Amino acid sequence: MTRIAVLGSTNMDLVAYVARAPQHGETVTGREFRTVPGGKGANQAIAAARSGAEVTMIGAVGNDDFGTRLRATLDHSGVDTDLLRTVEGPSGTAHIVVDDEGGNAIVVVPGANGTVTALHYDDEAAITGADALLLQLELPMDGVFAGADAARRHGVRTILTPAPVQPLPPELLEATGLLVPNEHEAAALTGIADPHEAVTALLRRVPEVVITLGAAGSMYASRFAEPVTVPAPQVRAVDTTAAGDTFVGALAVALGEGRPMEKAMAWASAAAALSVQRPGASSSMPYRSEIDAEAAAS
Ligand code: ATP
Repeated sequence: MTRIAVLGSTNMDLVAYVARAPQHGETVTGREFRTVPGGKGANQAIAAARSGAEVTMIGAVGNDDFGTRLRATLDHSGVDTDLLRTVEGPSGTAHIVVDDEGGNAIVVVPGANGTVTALHYDDEAAITGADALLLQLELPMDGVFAGADAARRHGVRTILTPAPVQPLPPELLEATGLLVPNEHEAAALTGIADPHEAVTALLRRVPEVVITLGAAGSMYASRFAEPVTVPAPQVRAVDTTAAGDTFVGALAVALGEGRPMEKAMAWASAAAALSVQRPGASSSMPYRSEIDAEAAAS
């Protein structure tokens, strides 16, 4: 079975639904409130587990009720949480206001995620034994780099989602095998709006890039091959939350199984297409049998 390690964030998303978002200094009455387990690290871990991999989550939750629920959500999804530490203080939270236009405003408070600045001995062993390490940027940069560096030293493929987008230190890029930005992140990292041109600039920094293009699919380019675009299945999207994390989790599993990149992207596209047709974040992520059926049909 493919083994995936995820070094990343766990957040409780606190979502308020309102007709319109409050202006500065204003109070508005909301319509509904939900707590939704999330965080890009946890979402990618759940996506990979549902895609059929053995997944270890490395990170931290707080010793509060949210931490208990975040761990339980991962456990319930079959993710190994032995290396998810419980630390003194609050868990990570994302405070999200969604208005009737579907627009949102978000404040992320890292909480326990902010304590992950280095690897513990067991973390390195989990990374060494994995087929791939998934990284995002919701942990301190020192922690992300420590993971990437351990993976590089042991020849483990690193897959980095550069979100939330921010300048990437050269040493992190040197340790990154595959970078998977969406088109906005690709533009922010390069200053180039057209993803077909941005990809060339990104390949000067990392050997392989997949840019996700929403309903238009995804594009792969490497230093050794011409760019290819893989279309997304045409579906009616009701909620694209965590589509990118679903795509990355499934892509890592397919690559870990030895599928060639284009086939792995097609399979990941099938997974993401299923997730956008259902409401929710990790709860909308499909299981392996569903992905296989969708991939065969499209
Ligand atoms: P999110 O932030 O919503 O998690 P993202 O912005 O990181 O997503 P996108 O490029 O929007 O990433 O989407 C990731 C992948 O999900 C796409 O490459 C595609 O395969 C799939 N996808 C997204 N939107 C759609 C859609 N409307 N129809 C079909 N597939 C979609």
